[in-house]
Amino acid sequence: MASQPSSAHVHANTPCSPQDVDTFLNDAEALVMRRGARMTRIRRKVLRLLLESAEPAKAYDLLANLDGEGSAKPPTVYRALDFLQESGLAHKIESLNAYVACGHASHSHSAVFLICDSCGGAEELHAVSTSQALKVETAAAGFNMTRAVIEVRGTCRDCAA
Ligand SMILES: [Zn+2]
Ligand SMILES: [Zn+2]
Ligand SMILES: [Zn+2]
Repeated sequence: MASQPSSAHVHANTPCSPQDVDTFLNDAEALVMRRGARMTRIRRKVLRLLLESAEPAKAYDLLANLDGEGSAKPPTVYRALDFLQESGLAHKIESLNAYVACGHASHSHSAVFLICDSCGGAEELHAVSTSQALKVETAAAGFNMTRAVIEVRGTCRDCAA
């Protein structure tokens, strides 16, 4: 059970889950351009690797799989990951020190991850009410929130079955 491929864990629970990598990448590029930024080759490649990864991807795995794209040095990859996070196209899961692509960049959501301790899968919830509550409560504290990632540990439905 624990060794199943875990791609089904990533974004599998919402209609906005990336279904098709190329469509997702083209939509992402359009979103980035609307914001006046550029989807460079390295950013696009890193995003593709995140989409194709069966589980949250570590920076050094991304680096190893860049296939000579650009000057694939660690700072290049981290800069691309920073950009993707700022654009809302990816999230970092701190407790796993790993990254996932996000299919919800175009609309309000809260990056709430359900992380399975058994299989290591990470599933992102829409959690709209959590997002709204966070905005209200952080604003009430006089804090200007730029992004938040909530990490919930437990057992996923597949591992619990
Ligand atoms: Zn997200
Ligand atoms: Zn969504
Ligand atoms: Zn699991």
